Amino acid sequence: MKRAAVIALDIGATSIKAAVLDTEGNFLAKASAPTQGAAGPERVLDNAAALAGQLSRGLAPKAIGVSSCGMIDPRRSTVVYATSVMPGWAGTNIAAGLKARTGLRCAARNDGDCAALGEALYGAGKGAAVFAMYTLGTGVGGGITIKGRLLDGENCAAGRLGHVKVHPGGRLCACGARGCLEAYASAYACRAALEMEPKQAFALAAKGDKAGEAFVHAAANALGLAFADLANTLNPGVIAVGGGMAAGWRLMKAGIMETFAANALPQACGSIRIVPAVTGNDAGLLGAFALVSKKF
Ligand SMILES: [Zn+2]
Repeated sequence: MKRAAVIALDIGATSIKAAVLDTEGNFLAKASAPTQGAAGPERVLDNAAALAGQLSRGLAPKAIGVSSCGMIDPRRSTVVYATSVMPGWAGTNIAAGLKARTGLRCAARNDGDCAALGEALYGAGKGAAVFAMYTLGTGVGGGITIKGRLLDGENCAAGRLGHVKVHPGGRLCACGARGCLEAYASAYACRAALEMEPKQAFALAAKGDKAGEAFVHAAANALGLAFADLANTLNPGVIAVGGGMAAGWRLMKAGIMETFAANALPQACGSIRIVPAVTGNDAGLLGAFALVSKKF
């Protein structure tokens, strides 16, 4: 008998990562291919289905879980908004497109949500009744889980943690508002302030460079404020920090903790753990797996 398996796809703007996992969530194989988003949604779905087919040879896959860039309506597995790098991706029903190509049932969600779900179930958030993940990438993505399930909100827009206001009227954010966390603790913020990537800013800060240190200080302060507000609102057991900027955790940690302690109520921060995420690049694939592993 062929071994039961689940396919997980992580569709990014430049590449599609794919994995096949057993029903317990262990990786059996991985592969990746260019997204070719500029060629339109049909090509993206063709590429995703080809990867899924290639990986599942000799196995009996039961479903496909998809983590995708863009805003996704998880109730319909349909893209609501995508950047211009992926023309036509908005409006695409990912589940229907992949089912037509593979015959398999499918569910899709936004990549930030999937990373949060993956980290909640298989990473730093394991066992936490309330968990929040902050992904510090180009922007700040995030997600909140309650007892292992993503908090959707009324309109599936909950957990937009990068746009919490940490400094009203402060730095301009990519979203158009001022003072968002993302305007202080992301690659976008680093490029705007120093015209460099966070990795370079961290290297400068480690050498005692004033501009590098100022970026680190502002990022850590903004994160500490955001975490304190979240703790006062939801009393999470664990907050995890992932994404490229988590590489600067060692430099930011003291500043984050100091600001957090000064702003969170004692009852809300007593047993909280604020830690780097542990699932790394696999978070999205693990979240995609979790979307369908129990559902189908
Ligand atoms: Zn914003």
